[in-house]
Amino acid sequence: MKYDHLVIGAGVSGISTALLLARFGGRVALLEQAARPAPLIDGFVRNGVYFEAGFHYAGGLEAGGVLDRHLRLLGVADDLQRVAFDPQAYDTVIQPDSGLNFSFPQGYDALCRRLQQQFPKQSRAVADYLERLRHTAGTLPYFNSHEAISPLDLAALHDCSLQQVFTELGIGGNLRTLLQVHCLLYGARPAEIPFAIHAGVVDGYYRSASTFKGGGRSLVKAFSLALKRFGVDLFCGCRVTGIDLTAADNIAGVSCADGRQFAAANYISSLHPQAMLKLVPDKAFRPVYRRRLNALAETTSGDIVFLRCQRPAGMRAEGLCESHLLAGHNYFFLPPSSADILDLTLSPQERLLYLNFAGSGGFSEGRDCGITAILPALPKSAADNEALPRQLYAEKKAMIGELVCGRIAKLLPELAGLQVECVATTKTLRRINLSPRGSLYGVKHMVGQFNPVPRTRLADFYLTGQAVAAPGLLGAITSALLAVAEIVGPDQLQKLRSEVACDV
Ligand SMILES: Cc1cc2nc3c(=O)[nH]c(=O)nc-3n(C[C@H](O)[C@H](O)[C@H](O)COP(=O)(O)OP(=O)(O)OC[C@H]3O[C@@H](n4cnc5c(N)ncnc54)[C@H](O)[C@@H]3O)c2cc1C
Repeated sequence: MKYDHLVIGAGVSGISTALLLARFGGRVALLEQAARPAPLIDGFVRNGVYFEAGFHYAGGLEAGGVLDRHLRLLGVADDLQRVAFDPQAYDTVIQPDSGLNFSFPQGYDALCRRLQQQFPKQSRAVADYLERLRHTAGTLPYFNSHEAISPLDLAALHDCSLQQVFTELGIGGNLRTLLQVHCLLYGARPAEIPFAIHAGVVDGYYRSASTFKGGGRSLVKAFSLALKRFGVDLFCGCRVTGIDLTAADNIAGVSCADGRQFAAANYISSLHPQAMLKLVPDKAFRPVYRRRLNALAETTSGDIVFLRCQRPAGMRAEGLCESHLLAGHNYFFLPPSSADILDLTLSPQERLLYLNFAGSGGFSEGRDCGITAILPALPKSAADNEALPRQLYAEKKAMIGELVCGRIAKLLPELAGLQVECVATTKTLRRINLSPRGSLYGVKHMVGQFNPVPRTRLADFYLTGQAVAAPGLLGAITSALLAVAEIVGPDQLQKLRSEVACDV
């Protein structure tokens, strides 16, 4: 059967693209190599404890927030229940050597007040920075339902870096350290990240930080239900091995590893751009385009340690949300004050360490708690892991697990009975998100690097995925909006966005 649209890859971006195209009445096929949709954001259960994988928390999920509106547009919001993180302290940043200890409260006003209290001499700079951030995020086309999605104005996005804004506003010392801690959410340093992209990611978190009841797994369930409801044909276990061209350079169809073939009027790839290039014949694109995509820099990589922790009797710890005891709470343990916070050449003992307690609901339900710990790493170490014989690789994973477990036990001594359940390395990331160097978020968004846009030289072939707009749930869905705007036309998409906004 010939489809109207065929989407390759059922991650957040591919699913969002398929759902939107189906809402416009198209017959849509969605092909995913994994056995289930959205494998990256799906959590998993080990020995009765739930762990998050590629989703820990999101910003902008408050009623009317940017992500809330996106999820309504996709038709999944009603199947999800938002669970707010600790309003007073969703992200706690601790730098053991300097004594820096700061918790981000939810909401711009509360954040402004707390930062100004802690940094009275930079009070003006705090206000100016937050105002600039809020204003910049508000000018991004996908933030306002009343503004049509237009092709990304790359030149405007790449106007200046986060670091330039810090320098311009005279932000230094510990304040600068704190304001760059969310670099981990997109895997680029302050000197690299365009301020507009930083603002687009961080603005949502500054407004509200939340997860879903049931974590990333519940999001996958909501997506699956919506795919059924909108009649999208989802084919899991279906790895696309080639995109075939006609003599006139149109797409003839796609071939899959199991021998199946599919044809459609339009094709949309949500894969890492370099993985996509491997599927198309050389003649599809000009050499300069291929070179550009092959040269795109990768985001930070990471080793991820999944730990079980027993609920300590009568547990109390300063700064923790008492009602949930660690649920709705992240920690960022920073490297020594002399180091750059995303310095990946530091030893694993010193490197930034991120802890998330959200997915399992912390200890709130009286069960053991699943902790996800991320230790960022250089993307190249994926290749190192790949080369290791099986036994040495297993030993390396065990060593990372022990090291991270030991660090957490020292940093949060009130946690009891910490136990490593499993470890994912840069090699795992390489397998899951097919970034050639095992990065956390695939292609980096950075000043001077022009990431691919949805439209390609082939009239019936479009790109989506986190490489296009930004990483994260918001970035991946935004990329889908941009691709769909190209296919159905910005006015049609705008009409749908306005209708959904009016329904809320
Ligand atoms: C450890 C970690 C923590 C994260 N935490 C958060 C968080 O807290 N909040 C947040 O918002 N974001 C978070 N993210 C980022 C977020 O998960 C991603 O940005 C987002 O899921 C990317 O979606 P995507 O659709 O662009 O890519 P992907 O999910 O990589 O989708 C691509 C899909 O294509 C499939 N595929 C690949 N090749 C083929 C082929 N040949 N044929 C068929 N299918 C194929 C893949 O299996 C995959 O499912 C995190 C990521 C990681 C790694």
